Amino acid sequence: MTEQVPSSIPLAIIGAGPAGLAAVAVARRYGIDVALLDEQSGPGGQIYRGIGYADADRMAMLGAEYADGRALLPSAEDPGRHDLYGATVWQITADGEIYYSRGGKAAALRAEHIILATGAIERPMPIPGWTLPGVMTAGAGQTMLKSSGLVPQGRLVITGSGPLLWLLAVQYGRAGVDIAALVETTPRGNYHQAVFKLPGLLREGTLLRQGRALRRELKRQGVPHFKQAKDLRAMGDDQVEALRFAANGQEHEIACDLLLLHMGVTPNVQFTRALDLAHDWDQVQRCWRPRCGTAGETEISNIRLAGDGAGIVGAGAAALQGRLAALAVAREMGLQMPAKEIAEAGIELRRRLTARPFIDRLFAPGDEFLDPGDDTIVCRCEEITAGRIRGLAVQGCRDANQLKSFGRLGMGPCQGRICGLGVAEVLARAQGVPVPDVGYFRLRWPAKPVPLDELAKFSEPEIEPEIEPEVEADDGG
Ligand SMILES: Cc1cc2nc3c(=O)[nH]c(=O)nc-3n(C[C@H](O)[C@H](O)[C@H](O)COP(=O)(O)OP(=O)(O)OC[C@H]3O[C@@H](n4cnc5c(N)ncnc54)[C@H](O)[C@@H]3O)c2cc1C
Repeated sequence: MTEQVPSSIPLAIIGAGPAGLAAVAVARRYGIDVALLDEQSGPGGQIYRGIGYADADRMAMLGAEYADGRALLPSAEDPGRHDLYGATVWQITADGEIYYSRGGKAAALRAEHIILATGAIERPMPIPGWTLPGVMTAGAGQTMLKSSGLVPQGRLVITGSGPLLWLLAVQYGRAGVDIAALVETTPRGNYHQAVFKLPGLLREGTLLRQGRALRRELKRQGVPHFKQAKDLRAMGDDQVEALRFAANGQEHEIACDLLLLHMGVTPNVQFTRALDLAHDWDQVQRCWRPRCGTAGETEISNIRLAGDGAGIVGAGAAALQGRLAALAVAREMGLQMPAKEIAEAGIELRRRLTARPFIDRLFAPGDEFLDPGDDTIVCRCEEITAGRIRGLAVQGCRDANQLKSFGRLGMGPCQGRICGLGVAEVLARAQGVPVPDVGYFRLRWPAKPVPLDELAKFSEPEIEPEIEPEVEADDGG
């Protein structure tokens, strides 16, 4: 493994989570030179963040599924593998050019094939008061736990919906954190809808086992647990002081110094949108999924997708998709492989995906968080409320891009990453049309903010030009 990367390489993989790490392992098994770029400081992605340096205590706290991530780490030095950590990719082109920032310097490389494995982002949970200091996402809390072993001080309340909520509560419990309350918002109707998908969950088996184990541990920890909560409001003037909500027919107010919110995860579509790839609307999960084939193939022949970035599938299935994408690249390069290798990965992937319809329906976001009240901020960067979006709808804004022009929504540093889906939900409901009718922000490069001085110092020729056949000088003879 080396950090020195040639400026031209057969395969580049963006994202070192389960999908990217599985893809790089397959590529190296077939002798393909590969560059792996990730903005984190080491391998692991979201689920296995910090896996390269977690000590025994942290491993125990994060649990057996976290420890499984060690199997994805390379076991030996490998000169054909170029791991670039701390590399934030901000643009890629259909010709295989990859532009990134690393150590305060912009750089570029060219790859014949690209696998995009950029994972998921947390869906925001806009409730009144969610921009107060002391309110964060559960994913951010977990990131600090995984990367530095940091745990919250003071009174903690965790609220929202999704498996990450239970997992984080259990991980904090193991770390000795006292949780004042776990407030679940999963609506009753979701259970009724999910029950029809139970056979898939039973067939897959693993997720059911993991879910049951988490629930048991949570019960043992004795965390006060509220279910089907609604009408949530973060209380406080300059800092969060309490979470107010209704559950079991009563009003509750639980004092806290830190409030963690979670409403599931959605594919990170910044790259696929900026590349102008086709996307399909997922009506259950209420998010966009880039269109791709079973081996991640897209409309751009040298760009493939794998993992949660192509639709939320979970770590095990993400790794299988990474494997399939890399096998497809190897086959395209004319490398020989046993026919059963692709078939087996495909069968295992299908088996794992049988549980998804249950999970997707059970943890689909509730209406309260898709259509918040007028005073609730939806676009945090520009501090624009749901009421303002509705006002712009009345004035005639028909789609997400018109909102951008008229109201500056999505024009802050997050570039629509955080607010994009929420803004479209509010606008669509204000107009009484389906979300696909109002569309999504048109995304432009760079996909991540890049300082101007980096760009000014960056010189294009750092990318090795494609080798042109030498032309003999015409000597006139
Ligand atoms: C905050 C958060 C926490 C999660 N925690 C858990 C958990 O504890 N357990 C669990 O089962 N599931 C968890 N998930 C779900 C988890 O993401 C998936 O199950 C699984 O990790 C998906 O794997 P992946 O390889 O597709 O993507 P990821 O693991 O998300 O990896 C994507 C990688 O791409 C990198 N990347 C993205 N954009 C760029 C860019 N522009 N330049 C460079 N690198 C980039 C990221 O840094 C990341 O390392 C979490 C999700 C989120 C969002």
